[in-house]
Amino acid sequence: MKVVKFGGSSLASGEQLEKVYGIVTSDPERKFVVVSAPGKRSSEDIKVTDLLIACAEKRINGEDLSNELKMLIDRYGSIATELNLPADVIKQIEADFLQVIDGDRSNKERYLDAVKASGEDNNAKLIAAYFQVMGTKATYVNPKDAGLFVSDEPGNAQVLPESYDQLYKLRDIEGIVIFPGFFGFTKDGHIATFSRSGSDITGSILANGIKVNVYENFTDVDAVFSVNPTIVSNPKEIKELTYREMRELSYAGFSVFHDEALIPAFRAGIPVNVRNTNNPSAPGTFIVNDRENSNGPVTGIASDKGFCSIYISKYLMNRELGFGRKLLQILEENEISYEHIPSGIDDITVILRENQMDEEKEANIVARIYGELQADKVEVEHGLSLLMIVGEGMRHNVGTTARASQALAEAGVNIEMINQGSSEVSMMFGIKAVHEKKAVQALYNAFFVGAVTV
Ligand code: ASP
Repeated sequence: MKVVKFGGSSLASGEQLEKVYGIVTSDPERKFVVVSAPGKRSSEDIKVTDLLIACAEKRINGEDLSNELKMLIDRYGSIATELNLPADVIKQIEADFLQVIDGDRSNKERYLDAVKASGEDNNAKLIAAYFQVMGTKATYVNPKDAGLFVSDEPGNAQVLPESYDQLYKLRDIEGIVIFPGFFGFTKDGHIATFSRSGSDITGSILANGIKVNVYENFTDVDAVFSVNPTIVSNPKEIKELTYREMRELSYAGFSVFHDEALIPAFRAGIPVNVRNTNNPSAPGTFIVNDRENSNGPVTGIASDKGFCSIYISKYLMNRELGFGRKLLQILEENEISYEHIPSGIDDITVILRENQMDEEKEANIVARIYGELQADKVEVEHGLSLLMIVGEGMRHNVGTTARASQALAEAGVNIEMINQGSSEVSMMFGIKAVHEKKAVQALYNAFFVGAVTV
């Protein structure tokens, strides 16, 4: 049995839904279908979830939302018309939207979550109706009835472990199960959504609970690429990678699959197969526990901007008891979380996401490090990018760092910082953000161009 999840672009129009129907019914193992809300039909289009957020915010502020509401109903209406669905299907969807948007606004975060979740919920109902019209037995299942319980953290809910046993019972439903992604219910019966793009998480939770053989995640690319295709044209596709490799790559900007979605599938050892709705015959990429094929030393290269570093040096830092703890406490008291801490004998660098820092915090942190820790030097550097070279094969290959740093040197990119992850499946370089593109290109050329994969 398989869980199949379709993302927003796979469900953006009636034409896309016809492809989805073809994919699901072509394989009897595809029994559990998790759906997003309709996404963009073109780059100028607006995702349904964004329309819903706009509706909710306008309603909260008492502004006129008739435009957004019309666009929303028209999106579902045009899909229903394209698919010749009975008129009562769209009438019911319209009534559901009006009800949720006019719902209880006493708790704004909860209200917003309920409105956001209605995008996937109504889409699941519409898709179940479509499958039935096509003569396929399909049932819409509500996450509450299925027992998908989550923590009470609106917009960032986490699955509660007892959900898994409940979800196993979905096996008993006859025919195809159509399940809305992106949200669950709190123990008090409130809707709570996962973080954005969270339908991937629902699919993974279902895959774990139902104990399927594969979790197929249908999106709009043929595979996970070894590097960002907007930086390097026609990059190599990855056939197979491990959960750990995927985790490291998505940390630094690979956005094909939600990083939180890996955990449930990983815990149950269920392979994730990323595939293309628009090219279903392509085998896609498998994310697995143990890779059988070698990808060479490097599986993928990722990069992400928006980092800054705090460099601190103090003579004899290595002998000072509690230096690191006190430093991190200063950051904690400024509500800053850190990403990496490469360190030397007399110095330490803390890398953090720049969006957490403002001028006031920076001044406070620097003053406290000088004052309380008596540092010799403190320097904050902004505008950094992190490059990640990721591959399980790095553990057994000598010279990967040398190859990477030589490629960067030849491209004229200065390395501000190097960190070999303790997991030994990744290596990280801090560079100036302005050099990011040429650095990624140089690394790709060094590891992939002309490289043969076994
Ligand atoms: N519709 C939600 C979003 O846009 C969830 C998803 O598509 O996975 O974030």
